[in-house]
Amino acid sequence: MLQGIVLRVACCVLLSAGLVVFYVKAAEEKGKPPKDAVILFDGKSTEAWVHRGSKKPCEWVVKDGYMEVRGGDIHTKQEFTDFQLHLEFWLPALPDKQGQGRANSGVYLQGRYEIQILDSYMNNTYKAGGCGAIYGIKDPDNFDKAVRPPGQWNTYDITFRAPRFDRAGKRLEWARVTVFWNGVKIHDNVEIPTDNTTAGMGGDPKTPGPIMLQDHGSPVRYRNIWIVPMKS
Ligand code: MG
Repeated sequence: MLQGIVLRVACCVLLSAGLVVFYVKAAEEKGKPPKDAVILFDGKSTEAWVHRGSKKPCEWVVKDGYMEVRGGDIHTKQEFTDFQLHLEFWLPALPDKQGQGRANSGVYLQGRYEIQILDSYMNNTYKAGGCGAIYGIKDPDNFDKAVRPPGQWNTYDITFRAPRFDRAGKRLEWARVTVFWNGVKIHDNVEIPTDNTTAGMGGDPKTPGPIMLQDHGSPVRYRNIWIVPMKS
């Protein structure tokens, strides 16, 4: 009788330990770049990035596996058409700032279409201007499930489909985007009916473009950035 109980307890402990190991392992795997990914920031080197305009080497501060916004927008040297992008961002607590002034940055797809980065936790701003918004176009779905207070790391997993044109240059489709914020789907194959959101790099929407990270005057941090280009 006693032996049976001891055996059952031991089994439960072993099973629990196994589940914990499995859970920790699964959490570690999350955000890990697949084999065909292009690593854009590995926590050490900013080699993949240059400053907007001057194209000088990236001068953002690199420390403890992250890079911090400093001295202007940066974009990748490499340009992309359709892709899957993973990035992680950390928002400083700036309680004396409000609205768009509170930990503002942003990731611009093809340098043209901004997915907003902002401390939107208990910080209201205008329509399609908060964290997770396709800037000026659409607010995120499921905002309350995705948002975190400042001082924590967040993830964006973005699938981007570039606009399509026929041979004569006539538009067939606008760009489309699906975004997961902290694992929560906030945009599901949403059309972006513009060729450039505010402060984007613009250019010919028929051509590839870089990934741009915005300096909006806040010390936002980034880490673990990778991209998988997809066949068009
Ligand atoms: Mg922004």
